[in-house]
Amino acid sequence: MSQMLNSSHTGAIAAVGNTPLIRLNKLSEHTGCEILAKAEFLNPGGSVKDRIARAIILEAEAQGRLKPGGVVVEGTAGNTGIGLTMLANARGYRTIITIPDNQTQEKIDFLRLLGAEVHAVPVVPFANQQHFCHQARRLAEGLPNAIFADQFNNLANRRAHYETTGPEIWAQTGGKVDALVAAAGTGGTISGAGLFLKERNPAVRVVLADPLGSALYSYVKTGELDSDGDSMAEGIGIGRLVPNFEGAPVDDALQVDDRALVATAYHLVREEGLLLGTSAAVNVWAAARTALAMGPGHTIVTFLCDGGQRYLSRLYNPVWLAEQGHSAASTGFGFLTD
Ligand code: PMP
Repeated sequence: MSQMLNSSHTGAIAAVGNTPLIRLNKLSEHTGCEILAKAEFLNPGGSVKDRIARAIILEAEAQGRLKPGGVVVEGTAGNTGIGLTMLANARGYRTIITIPDNQTQEKIDFLRLLGAEVHAVPVVPFANQQHFCHQARRLAEGLPNAIFADQFNNLANRRAHYETTGPEIWAQTGGKVDALVAAAGTGGTISGAGLFLKERNPAVRVVLADPLGSALYSYVKTGELDSDGDSMAEGIGIGRLVPNFEGAPVDDALQVDDRALVATAYHLVREEGLLLGTSAAVNVWAAARTALAMGPGHTIVTFLCDGGQRYLSRLYNPVWLAEQGHSAASTGFGFLTD
């Protein structure tokens, strides 16, 4: 990828990555650690998934599988589709996106605004052939000059993080990073960035932040895939082992419930000045807990995967929040220990 990303690339694709590393001041002061967060919401498509959209498109172009006028097909919780569609628009491709119909309307509307052909499909287990991933694969197979981006299996995903996210973190911290904390949707971020950082310094602790309803917490803790509960978090949590997560150098896992998610999201708005998405809240809570567990003096890096504008109708809608049994009431730092 790094060779492919050369100075001949201009336009939107050249604006992906090299995101700032933001110090979360209040949480850093409270924990006595440096809690640093990659501002992935500042990518041109507004999420961490722009990185893999770039890698998948450039790799398919380099392999001759994607040609002018071609079609990019993907199954996505939204952000990969948004990244792919923005870059596809800029480079002359069309996109067809399948998305589970329980994702926020904001993401579906945004995809349609960008010109993607969007198929919002009912949520079914992966074993069902109507699962959004299988539908995307079949659509791609049935079209000439189309590629299936295939973010769960396509290792260009993990490689994008190994080649860009990991090195950026190493450079921005001057190599002083004690722990990397990340949720997994495909596992590309945690495995790619984790592998890079562990290669530089095997002592870097890699911690998975996992929402309820995902099977990965149990997998890290016991070796068995098992899940319990549910979460409002979008884009993260997996019920099966996928190639981009397999082999991720994970040392430990923390389970994050929606109460912690909501309290962290509102802490970030009110105390840190950052309006962020659900997975960023999961990541930041787990990063702060990791800081408390490791003790003062450590540097913890995590990811602000997307912005809160995509969640105005849910997480940042007091009526919807109350219907879910949550409130935006402030708890000081109680949400880290309650
Ligand atoms: N946060 C959000 C909002 C996402 O859309 C995703 C990807 N689905 C992730 C986190 C997880 O990233 P990864 O796929 O690299 O594990």
